[in-house]
Amino acid sequence: MKVAIIGAGVIGVSTAYELAADGHEVTVFERRSAAAEETSFANAGIIAPGYVTPWAAPGMPGKMFKSLFQRHAPLQLGLRLSTSDLAWMWKWRRACKLDTHLTNRSRLQRLAFYSRERLHALAHTLRLEYDRSDGCMVLLRTAQDAAMAEPGLQLLRDAGVRFQQIDVAAARSIEPALCAETDFFGAIHLPDDEVGNCRQFTMLLKAAAQQLGAKFEFNRTVAQINPAPAATVSIANETTPRRFDAVVVCAGMASAALLKPLGVHIPLAAVYGYSLTANIREPLNAPVSAVMDEHYKVAISRMGQRVRVSGSAELGGQPDTKNPAAIATLYKVLHDWFPGAAQLASNVQIWKGARPMLPDGPPLIGASGLPGVWLNLGHGSSGWALACGSARATADLVAGHSPAIDMEGLGLERLRN
Ligand SMILES: Cc1cc2nc3c(=O)[nH]c(=O)nc-3n(C[C@H](O)[C@H](O)[C@H](O)COP(=O)(O)OP(=O)(O)OC[C@H]3O[C@@H](n4cnc5c(N)ncnc54)[C@H](O)[C@@H]3O)c2cc1C
Repeated sequence: MKVAIIGAGVIGVSTAYELAADGHEVTVFERRSAAAEETSFANAGIIAPGYVTPWAAPGMPGKMFKSLFQRHAPLQLGLRLSTSDLAWMWKWRRACKLDTHLTNRSRLQRLAFYSRERLHALAHTLRLEYDRSDGCMVLLRTAQDAAMAEPGLQLLRDAGVRFQQIDVAAARSIEPALCAETDFFGAIHLPDDEVGNCRQFTMLLKAAAQQLGAKFEFNRTVAQINPAPAATVSIANETTPRRFDAVVVCAGMASAALLKPLGVHIPLAAVYGYSLTANIREPLNAPVSAVMDEHYKVAISRMGQRVRVSGSAELGGQPDTKNPAAIATLYKVLHDWFPGAAQLASNVQIWKGARPMLPDGPPLIGASGLPGVWLNLGHGSSGWALACGSARATADLVAGHSPAIDMEGLGLERLRN
């Protein structure tokens, strides 16, 4: 089959690889000049399937309200919410009900565990060498943070995730550079979780897909998709539409606008987050792998010779306007846990990315309802952790095969119920 993929983020590239590995003739269209230039560029890099959970959860609406009055709040609500943001929030609020949350959580985790398996298989077979490290630790500042984490631990047990509740001394032995002056209550250690550089992985997988014959056309914006009888994509500034047997939409946040003219309405919202990345000043003062500050919802990850601090969830923000308070929180949390780890005087990369978030949590994978048009989009805050499984499942569905996992609740039909 001749297959077009729109978007070369981690989702589009992994989909291109799987389809090319199945023997299809793949062309990827990307409006930027390289792969992983948008949301896949500088994320936290954490792969923790047991923690892949919908943002729509009981208690979240209250937390969002409280955050309006807090200085270092992990959630931020922009003042200029659009009508589509408000409609999204209404659907999100409904999905915060406990039973809906648990259903969506189990859908996401099914995909996340499968994705980790697929990621390991690809990294091993293709010998992909990207910055990565094993283990993740959730740091609990206070007894209250520990109490709030408790219900989540039962869900980890139910999902069979290996973890240990550890005291301060044990946490310091796993991450010896944790600041001696910062008091905390304890930690949860997840030895099977990992951190990896999503952008590097995407670049390496792109090269592997190219070796299988996949073509990447950069600086090509898809202006329009036309479904079958012959699926075509129209490229901006080209007069003749290009014909394919199938088109897979992996355009992250831009997917909704591409699909809207076809009558496919996808309620995507941009939930912005920030990261700062800096060179390590002294390896002995830097994290060994990843830690997550449960109170501020900020992750500090080791990325080879660099350290990355990421967090914040901002709804109703703008892509080009950075919120100084959110960035200050990243510096504060880094300073609390690993002072002196990074060279912060110069060359600090400050990045803002838009998580392509559906109101209820899981992504949309599979048929669009239009002949020849397929979806692999809306991976929200866990696109890196979900990419490899989502890609494999998409390739199976496009070929008319059954994916290795149950796809219940991971397709567009979920939004129509
Ligand atoms: C601060 C932050 C921290 C995060 N941390 C983690 C984490 O620890 N673990 C995790 O699993 N996930 C994390 N995420 C989420 C993860 O980064 C995203 O889910 C993932 O990158 C989405 O990938 P994507 O390929 O769908 O989107 P993108 O990477 O945005 O790719 C979409 C691509 O489509 C292209 N495109 C769009 N429209 C067109 C068009 N018309 N024509 C051609 N090309 C087009 C875009 O240019 C872009 O390159 C984080 C996100 C943020 C913001």
